[in-house]
Amino acid sequence: MYGATETKTAVEGQAASKVGPVVELRSDTFTKPTEEMRRAMAEAEVGDDVYGEDPTVNRLQQRAAEIFGREAGLFVPTGSMGNTIAMKIWTRPGQDVITEELGHISQFEVGAFAALGGCSSRLVPSPDGILTWEMIERRLRPKAYDEIEPGLIALENTHNMRGGTVYPQAVSDEICDGAHQRGLPVHLDGARIFNAAAALERSVREITGKFDSVMFCLSKALGAPVGSMLVGSEEFIEKARLWRKIFGGGMRQAGVLAAAGLVALEKTPARLPEDHANARFLAEGLAKIPGIMLDPSKVQTNIVIYDVQGTGRTGEQFCEEIAKQNVRATGAADKYGVRMVTHYDVDRAGIERALEVIRAMRKN
Ligand SMILES: *Cc1c(COP(=O)(O)O)cnc(C)c1O
Repeated sequence: MYGATETKTAVEGQAASKVGPVVELRSDTFTKPTEEMRRAMAEAEVGDDVYGEDPTVNRLQQRAAEIFGREAGLFVPTGSMGNTIAMKIWTRPGQDVITEELGHISQFEVGAFAALGGCSSRLVPSPDGILTWEMIERRLRPKAYDEIEPGLIALENTHNMRGGTVYPQAVSDEICDGAHQRGLPVHLDGARIFNAAAALERSVREITGKFDSVMFCLSKALGAPVGSMLVGSEEFIEKARLWRKIFGGGMRQAGVLAAAGLVALEKTPARLPEDHANARFLAEGLAKIPGIMLDPSKVQTNIVIYDVQGTGRTGEQFCEEIAKQNVRATGAADKYGVRMVTHYDVDRAGIERALEVIRAMRKN
């Protein structure tokens, strides 16, 4: 259904003929729209969404709200904008946002929390990216007039830079309950929440029910070309619509994008276990290669992060070398870290080819 029908560009075709086909493992953002998405985009009914009159955008927003069991949803151009909007709604300048140390919000949104929110970040480290209420609570102090005040807790599920790790539902539920008792809202950076749901074999509605707001990406493993969603209460989404406009994210005939988003939302979640199986297969293969360090049993979803120091290379050098063979990966947070992400445009044969290229690397 996916992948095989992709038309490669002339450049890609040329490169492939010399050193083998491209295996794109840098990110699941590289997924290209499926034929079904392209068709839906071409046929989408559209209107002016700033006036609230794009029927396809409205349908997507309604479906997202239904699927998450919320009152309303909002289509936003990017996940970063969705997270920043949520932060603007829940905090005021001078407060801080509590996140895990390698969280996307604190590390990979170019400091939007500071640049646009006037907030600082309170980083709580956790080796696997999964925070507990105990870890957070010990960093909270009684209110004092001269102390910075936490405005928001933001959790990330799955946790990108810690290797696609998943919150056990009881753990995220306990954080939400504890935070709410202290009057703190909790936002979910759920860029890959459908991967978490697939790993837990639960619905996204169940595992996100206690959060005050949820952002999820259509443009990652779900495969849409552009777009993310916010879901929450009527009141939250009304405010979010204003902030989206302030940030310059009010789009017009966005139905052409929402149409692909609808296909992504309805069709892709069911096939995510395949990506997870490919990631596990990749991890098991990598773990057997001398110089590479990782524990494949820790790979829960579609992200594999491993240490290559034993190969005598930094993460960046490792990636440059395999890129010459058309196998693409990125460095991770650590100097010796490498990250690979599986998705519907890489099949089992692609994973096998990536492993072959890495096995054949010269020992440094
Ligand atoms: C990709 C991602 C986002 C949002 O990214 P955009 O590129 O702005 O859409 C947010 N959080 C996490 C964890 C992500 O991986």
